[in-house]
Amino acid sequence: MNPGAFLDRDGTINVDSGYVASPDLLEFTPGAIDAIRTLNRRGYSIAVITNQAGVARGFHTESDVDAFHAEMSRQLALADAHIDRFYYCPHHEEGTVEPYAIQCDCRKPADSLYRRAISELDLDPTKSIVVGDKPGDLTPAIALGAKGVLIVPQAHVDHPTVEECPFQRAGDLHSAVGQLLGL
Ligand SMILES: [Mg+2]
Ligand SMILES: [Zn+2]
Repeated sequence: MNPGAFLDRDGTINVDSGYVASPDLLEFTPGAIDAIRTLNRRGYSIAVITNQAGVARGFHTESDVDAFHAEMSRQLALADAHIDRFYYCPHHEEGTVEPYAIQCDCRKPADSLYRRAISELDLDPTKSIVVGDKPGDLTPAIALGAKGVLIVPQAHVDHPTVEECPFQRAGDLHSAVGQLLGL
C-alpha cells in the first residue's frame, strides 16, 4: 500500500476563476507544480478529487473536464511532475442536465471518490495527506485516517473561523505540502 495525496483541484492546484473548464484558462497556483513534483519524488500517489457541478449545470461537458485534466497533465509532464489519477463528480441535485441532476454519493463531502482512489491506487489512508480550500475537501479523508491542511488565502485568513473548522492551515498548496511532509 502506498501513501496517497488527495488534492482538491480548483483553488488548490489551479486558480479558481469559477467553473473553470477551458484548457487555456488553466493557471497553476504559485508553487503548485513544485509541490506536486515533491509529492511524486517522495512516493505519494496523487489523486485529484474534484466536484465539477458545472457539468450538471450545463456550463461544460465531461469531455471538457477531461480536456482540462489532459492539459494539466501535459504542463506537469513538462516539469517532470504528474498526477496519478483524476476523480470528479459531475453531479448536482439542482442541475439542469440529465442524467447529472441527481443527489449522488460522490460529491464532496461524500467519501466515495476517496474510497475509489484508495482501492484503485492501493493507498494506505493512514499514511496519506489531504489538501483543499474547503473543509468538505478534508473531512472525508481525515475520517479515513489521513492528515490534512486547509488552504486559506491570506486575505481570508479568519474565514472560516478555527471554531468552525479546526484544521491546520496554510496559504497555498506549496506551503501545505511543506507542513505535512515536515519540509
Ligand atoms: Mg476548491
Ligand atoms: Zn457525484
